[in-house]
Amino acid sequence: TLDPDAARGADLLVFDREHLWHPYTSMTDPAPVRLVTGAEGVRLHLDDHGEHLEVVDAMSSWWSAIHGYRVPELDAALADQAGRMAHVMFGGLTHAPAVDLAERLVSITPDPLQHVFLADSGSVSVEVAIKMALQTQRGQGRPERTRLLTLRGGYHGDTFGCMSVCDPVGGMHSMFTEVLAPQVFAERPPAPGGDVEGWAEGVRRLAAEHTDELAGIIVEPRLQGAGGMWVYDDRCLVVLREIADEHGLVLIFDEIATGLGRTGDLFVSSQVTPDILCLGKALTGGYLTLAAVLTTSEVAHAISRSESGVLMHGPTFMGNPLACAVALASLDLLAARGWEQDVRRVSSALSAGLSPLAGAPGVADVRVLGAVGVVHLDHPVDSAKATDAALREGVWIRPFRDLIYTMPPYVTGEEDLARICRAVAAAAEVA
Ligand code: PLP
Repeated sequence: TLDPDAARGADLLVFDREHLWHPYTSMTDPAPVRLVTGAEGVRLHLDDHGEHLEVVDAMSSWWSAIHGYRVPELDAALADQAGRMAHVMFGGLTHAPAVDLAERLVSITPDPLQHVFLADSGSVSVEVAIKMALQTQRGQGRPERTRLLTLRGGYHGDTFGCMSVCDPVGGMHSMFTEVLAPQVFAERPPAPGGDVEGWAEGVRRLAAEHTDELAGIIVEPRLQGAGGMWVYDDRCLVVLREIADEHGLVLIFDEIATGLGRTGDLFVSSQVTPDILCLGKALTGGYLTLAAVLTTSEVAHAISRSESGVLMHGPTFMGNPLACAVALASLDLLAARGWEQDVRRVSSALSAGLSPLAGAPGVADVRVLGAVGVVHLDHPVDSAKATDAALREGVWIRPFRDLIYTMPPYVTGEEDLARICRAVAAAAEVA
């Protein structure tokens, strides 16, 4: 039987093309989009001009669908919560899904992180984290400290506060530079085994020069994602912790992409503890939009001493019960399945399948970290060609800039992992 969405496929695509923006697209020169009619396990069901395709999702819907799609445990949690209460305002009210999720997050993150803000997207959580850092300084009698030290190569989201701490050289937000809060940018940290001391010297100098105006430091720990998929040496995080302590800065780790097992640790923050931790993406197993900001009692108390006495943020969909219930079910499943073993298995398969591409014509570098594989080309990717080549191998990828990369669902099986590697290789060859 024809899927009802597929039956309307041509009409849907016509209206989409004329009226619907996709991430980073133009209304007058739209990029091609494909119709998804469903998803199950690690496969997306696509309708390609009436032809039904089932392809492996090598992107986990941008880091989020770690358990794949139509996961019975998550479907059940969602249906159960929908039967009780889909949403309620969080101002003056609370509910079990939010409290239970907060309790779980406090228990699985490092001990000093005790207070939880449930935001509605990754970008909003970064905005909240920045506000927390600024309010902390105000609460400590240093209102002039309003800037963030951040890293070249970083990406933290698309809203204005987030854009201000993204690497401006990446160009994603360069049109807005003039209206963004000026921040302090340190060099991109060295790859594992690189010159950490040399890098640290530069960051120490910057922090010392700008101490009087710095409120905090914000970084994606271990792996910088949308700013270039750069893997860096964990020792840099120790250096940042030392600098933050020395200068009274609030250290923010944005683990929206790296959190919940992706790089091989449940959180990179288990190695070096930040003052603020942002989570998102995989938090609900990719089912619903939800993010969390965790922080310490020290930060929470300083915020209470700022002029307002309260943390100045409160979105309509804060702590959405459906999202919280699914997040709890997703965390249960993560523990029950043994995420460490899954991530190790994915990692070995990506290493085995992608490492041989190192040194191939057009390939500048191959990087594998946890359940992330990156083929860095020495030229910009022809995205349409690369995507088509991967689809011919039965795999969905979304290359950008000079990168072809994959972060498959943790549950992806051996054959599908091999298929992903073949697809990435085919894409790299034509790109
Ligand atoms: N921070 C990091 C490290 C991200 O990778 C992203 C999204 O790609 C964000 C923040 C923004 O999250 P969202 O797209 O949910 O607003």
